[in-house]
Amino acid sequence: MLQRPDTIIKEYRIPDAPDAWVTILHDDLLHPVLGGNKLRKLDALLPTLQPSGITDVVTCGGLQSAHTAAIAAACAERGLRSHLLVRGERPAVPTGYHLLARMYGEVTYVPRSEYADRDAMLQRHAASIEAGLPAEAKVCIIEEGAASPLACLGLIRLVAHLARHWAASNRAVTIVTDCGTGTTAIGLAIGIAFLDLPWKVQGVMLADSAEYYLQQQKKLAKAFSSDFLTDSSAALRAKLERLPLHWVERLHPRKFGSILPGEIAICRQIARELGLLLDPIYSLAAWEVALQSAAEHSTGEDGSQHRVCILHCGGLHGLYGLAQRYPADF
Ligand SMILES: *Cc1c(COP(=O)(O)O)cnc(C)c1O
Repeated sequence: MLQRPDTIIKEYRIPDAPDAWVTILHDDLLHPVLGGNKLRKLDALLPTLQPSGITDVVTCGGLQSAHTAAIAAACAERGLRSHLLVRGERPAVPTGYHLLARMYGEVTYVPRSEYADRDAMLQRHAASIEAGLPAEAKVCIIEEGAASPLACLGLIRLVAHLARHWAASNRAVTIVTDCGTGTTAIGLAIGIAFLDLPWKVQGVMLADSAEYYLQQQKKLAKAFSSDFLTDSSAALRAKLERLPLHWVERLHPRKFGSILPGEIAICRQIARELGLLLDPIYSLAAWEVALQSAAEHSTGEDGSQHRVCILHCGGLHGLYGLAQRYPADF
């Protein structure tokens, strides 16, 4: 049910730039709730739970977290129960990802002060949830963003699929993706490195600092190596140390979750002109960086030899949440 490696690949002409194209990997269209990178990240992770006796999953996120909604839907599809710890209070009108989380899973609101120490909060709630369940129930915690080596496997599978799809082309590829925990970008870069492709990833930093993302990269590469590589795979371990991954600033930096004046209008214009729906929190950031990359490469010596792609990670249900906060913009 989750294992759908294919993605819809579409070319979009860049407005006002003759002969410039951006390729969109439409992972957003893979599933109505799990669309985007969540499906990739859970692809290998969820099937490991039930064989080890897990019946209940605990995770956490902000009010409009795509992660909590995705975990809830994916668990429900597999017959697992999900318990979602959501930061803050119940909104007057649940909408967007939060509405979906409430439909598929069990939501508990956690005061911001308690949420500040996430690990402690997750442990505490997991213990009390387990205490209230039948004796045979077994609870596991999935951390925010599912930042684990298993989550990388679905991204490696996507890269392998793209490599087969473009096997006849010698164009180098840049994959741009918008980052929360950075797991998606890191998983893509591991796939590219292991398959020896002349490709690279640009991870647009949205939720934290460059130090945080470098730390995530180091942590995940180390965990991946210890989980999946044997002592004899020194060559692969060396590849993990030098991933083809560039962390880049968003073109118009801001605090994560907020939007700048006019951005809804920009998304609306792109939707009308290209038939491409973006959201100002996530995918617009990847779009802007991809246009810049496409412009740089089209003036470079290798010109048309380069393909700039965006992994469209979804995020569209977030628009409903934004409409609550900025009704006049829509
Ligand atoms: C969850 C999500 C992200 C963040 O993914 P990470 O793997 O945590 O970096 C980015 N974009 C969209 C649309 C998302 O839903």
